[in-house]
Amino acid sequence: MAYCKICNEFKTNGKSELLKHSETPRHNRFKKVLEENAALRGKLDLYLNSSTDKLVIVLEVRLILFLAENNLAISLIDKLIAVLLVCFPKDTVLQQLAMAKQKCGNIIRFGKNIKTLKK
Ligand SMILES: [Zn+2]
Repeated sequence: MAYCKICNEFKTNGKSELLKHSETPRHNRFKKVLEENAALRGKLDLYLNSSTDKLVIVLEVRLILFLAENNLAISLIDKLIAVLLVCFPKDTVLQQLAMAKQKCGNIIRFGKNIKTLKK
């Protein structure tokens, strides 16, 4: 017994039967839709399943919020990251953190622009 993932059906095992089934309009229609979805799913998985990337973004936002909420200078971000790297040298999330005062300032400005657009 063979199973067609595309049509979600069981088929007989014969080679000619399977070849004939692969040429049916129904199978080809579902195949096209699944291929389109697979491409989108791949992009979505890249974004959602890379948990380390997500943690890096969360860390960046937390550090920026820490500076902003305590009225600290954005230029402190470089030294703050350096201290964190010394304290936690094996932290993989911290090692991927690529943020300097320029990026920090841009994120704060970008967030500020979004807030003013919503009003
Ligand atoms: Zn099929």
